[in-house]
Amino acid sequence: MSERKTLEERAQMTDLERLRHSCAHVMATAILRIWPDAQFAYGPPIENGFYYDFDLKHRITPDDFEKIEAEMKKIAKENQKFEYKAITRDEAKAMAESGRLGGLSERPGNPSRFKLDLIDKIPEGETISCFQNGEFIDLCAGPHVGYTSKCKNVKLMSVSSSFYLGDESKGQLQRLYGTAFESKEQLEEHLVRLEEAKKRDHRRLGKELQLFHIDEAVGQGLILWKPKGGLIRRALQDFITQELDKQGYSQVFTPHIGKLDLYRTSGHFPYYQESQYPPIAERDTLEKLADEDATCATLVNGLSDGTFEGYLLKPMNCPHHIKIFASEHRSYRDLPVRLAEFGTVYRWEQSGELGGMTRVRGFTQDDAHLFCTPDQVSAELIGCLDLVKKVLSTLGMHNYRVRLSLRDPDSDKYVGSPENWDKAEAAIREAVQVLGVDYTEELGEAAFYGPKIDFVVKDVIGRDWQLGTVQVDYNLPERFKLEYVGADNTTHRPVMIHRAPFGSLERFTGLLIEHFEGKFPTWLSPEQVRVLPISEKFLEAAEAVTTQLAEAGVRVSLDSSSDKVGAKIRNARMERIPYMLVLGAKEVEEGTVSVRHRDKEDLGAKPLEQFIAEITAEIRERSL
Ligand SMILES: [Zn+2]
Ligand SMILES: [Zn+2]
Repeated sequence: MSERKTLEERAQMTDLERLRHSCAHVMATAILRIWPDAQFAYGPPIENGFYYDFDLKHRITPDDFEKIEAEMKKIAKENQKFEYKAITRDEAKAMAESGRLGGLSERPGNPSRFKLDLIDKIPEGETISCFQNGEFIDLCAGPHVGYTSKCKNVKLMSVSSSFYLGDESKGQLQRLYGTAFESKEQLEEHLVRLEEAKKRDHRRLGKELQLFHIDEAVGQGLILWKPKGGLIRRALQDFITQELDKQGYSQVFTPHIGKLDLYRTSGHFPYYQESQYPPIAERDTLEKLADEDATCATLVNGLSDGTFEGYLLKPMNCPHHIKIFASEHRSYRDLPVRLAEFGTVYRWEQSGELGGMTRVRGFTQDDAHLFCTPDQVSAELIGCLDLVKKVLSTLGMHNYRVRLSLRDPDSDKYVGSPENWDKAEAAIREAVQVLGVDYTEELGEAAFYGPKIDFVVKDVIGRDWQLGTVQVDYNLPERFKLEYVGADNTTHRPVMIHRAPFGSLERFTGLLIEHFEGKFPTWLSPEQVRVLPISEKFLEAAEAVTTQLAEAGVRVSLDSSSDKVGAKIRNARMERIPYMLVLGAKEVEEGTVSVRHRDKEDLGAKPLEQFIAEITAEIRERSL
């Protein structure tokens, strides 16, 4: 690794990171053996492997991978020792000038320009360390494995372009990614998992199945739900709404913006200014505009001197719900008040972090705020967990856990009385135990304003998905001076619970697409049945069948194309439609339909009424 890291960071490198970083050196050695003019820049371990950035005239393509891997295997067999060397600044500079540093030998006329720059970044007086394996010597603080023989279970993954330390002005480099594991079995497992993940990737499936679209003209991270994705979202919302109704929630609707002052009171502004939308952080841009446009000038000046009351796109729904609670006189008999909204919020995520539905800039939370007495917190938390359990088990997600963020017992930074905290924490613990959910307790991880429950789902291929939270809050009721009249006829402060257990509909749908590999259960499928007449002769009968299904509330379409029935079946399967009904002479005569399921064998001919009764039951019961 060529970029400096603090010694503490180095010490924190795990065994696997140490191995992977060593593989980056082996990869560099191999590339230099093939292309001696390569100039190496920076090569750290990363989450699933490692990379090295370098400048090279030859454009590496996946066709080169085999050759590079073969050379890497050779280097592993040679069992070179990784040797640490401390050198002086002058020595380091001389080695870089001669091309030796980050090279296999001296390269007259080809100094190691990135290494020279990196040496300059090392503070005076600090030891300059190198690691050498075989003929390759690199500026590096380590640590490394002992010998290159450890680096044999490696695979090159992809190549992309990059910039030296992310700086566009320094010219384009190539970035070659690889992965490595301690054992051959682990490497193979990882590659199988990647294949599986690729097959399930919601970005690809979302496009293929026409579920959603992201358009540069609208903006990055802003999801456009297409009609089919919209049907999935509606089915999901209907399901969650039904469960919320059963639990006594009231649905509310609030606007997408609010006055700046509202967020000052809630503390979201300026505290979360960085992630707020529109980004006040881009004041420079506004100021440039202000020179050209008087309206902008008013805005910018107003923001600076505090006279202009701006509006913000809401980053959270809480302040709006709080104002609904506060709009009426509340007595203890009214509590708990449970306000739910599929509330759309906007946050300014850095563009580098955006991708598909999992990281977005506008998203709709399955949000709700509960206002209750301190004694009601426990029952409300159990209700929240109950709902999550119901929804996840309906979706066949049985592998999940919760993380409880609790108070640091030795700190006094928390708002709310210690007795209430004790009660709330005990309630959370009790709730997860009653529901038999796997959980971990993290002391000191609670926000200053209340303990929290996070949900993490493990998907079918073993990846963790962080969903949403249930958060107890003693702070906002204070900031907004919320009150209710107690049985004792005096005013009390309610406790608030924020809950958006599935996070956002965008992220959750992304997870569902991958979880089901696009094969949604019938109740969630955008199209549940497709009617396939064998030929035009049966088109009229097929239309009648389609109408009857639609009248029964089934999402159905008719393939009236002149394709052969085999092709029609293939198309319907590609679109992951659960049921296909084939209609020919025999079926029309007998008033039946030949039923095929996308995953099962031919289910045979059934009277249409029977099929309708079966599929409507399946949809109603939300069977998997
Ligand atoms: Zn290194
Ligand atoms: Zn909230």
